[in-house]
Amino acid sequence: MRWKELMQQQDDFAAEIRKQDAIKFASNSFIKAFCNRLDPNIIHLYFDDGNSGGSVWMHLICGECGALLLDTGYGIGNLKSVIEQLTDKPVSVFNTHWHGDHTGGNSQFENVYMHEFDIPYWKESLSCEAGRMLPVTLAFSQDAVIPLSDKFIRAVHDGMTFHLGGRIETIVHMPGHSAGNCMVIDSKTGILFSGDAILSTPTLVIDGFPAVDHAELLTVEAFHTALVQHMKQLNKVKWLCPSHGRLMLSNKYVSAMQHCTEEILKAPDKWERYDYIPSLPGMIRCVDDAMIVYTLNRVHKVLEA
Ligand SMILES: [Zn+2]
Repeated sequence: MRWKELMQQQDDFAAEIRKQDAIKFASNSFIKAFCNRLDPNIIHLYFDDGNSGGSVWMHLICGECGALLLDTGYGIGNLKSVIEQLTDKPVSVFNTHWHGDHTGGNSQFENVYMHEFDIPYWKESLSCEAGRMLPVTLAFSQDAVIPLSDKFIRAVHDGMTFHLGGRIETIVHMPGHSAGNCMVIDSKTGILFSGDAILSTPTLVIDGFPAVDHAELLTVEAFHTALVQHMKQLNKVKWLCPSHGRLMLSNKYVSAMQHCTEEILKAPDKWERYDYIPSLPGMIRCVDDAMIVYTLNRVHKVLEA
């Protein structure tokens, strides 16, 4: 099964990255940083959860007059102190989506942005323990956990831009994994920060999160429609830096993912059993190395919200 080979590559990557030279921080032992090989003003921050499944990337993009931090991880350890060591520019945060492994450290920052459709989900998650999504495989003290707060979050929508000086970051709304799931294109390098939408691990389009609003966007169909809509723009990107797994993927993953959504829509029943995460058995479809894990009620528009 091709997807098993791909997940083995993933495990090898997770083991390899532990051995690599990285920038380390006395104030936060959970995070390691790597400068992008094309542009040292892009810094990738890796939070290793000790098991490749939940390790997560945050990306810091520095311009001449401002910096944009994509996601704040699980909120374990002091993230703000790390960012202050990496840039002296004013920092805004953009959450690719509301899930707890991407928003956990938000309360340490003043200017936080998220797609308008994900804000209600994020607010709902504050009062629900499962929303926090702290990694179960990692040992950490409760003192290291940054408390969540119901701070004001600024709403963004598709096509909005962040002007950082010498580079522009453009928001691309890409629903499916979440209703307001987004990706970001960097004008200077042509890197697509693809969040949890297009990555070397499976894109999850699964039931399991409470559907507050826009449940029709939590589907393979919505993902497919958005990919088709944005394909002209996405075809121009040079590299993909997702939020999990390998970085600097070739842009062939974009068309592969579109192909994968098409195949699921054509024949939703043609899946293989996905048992990589035993607590999360599901159905997987793998096309041209793009993988989607889905449930049948998340293929087409769901009517019940
Ligand atoms: Zn994630």
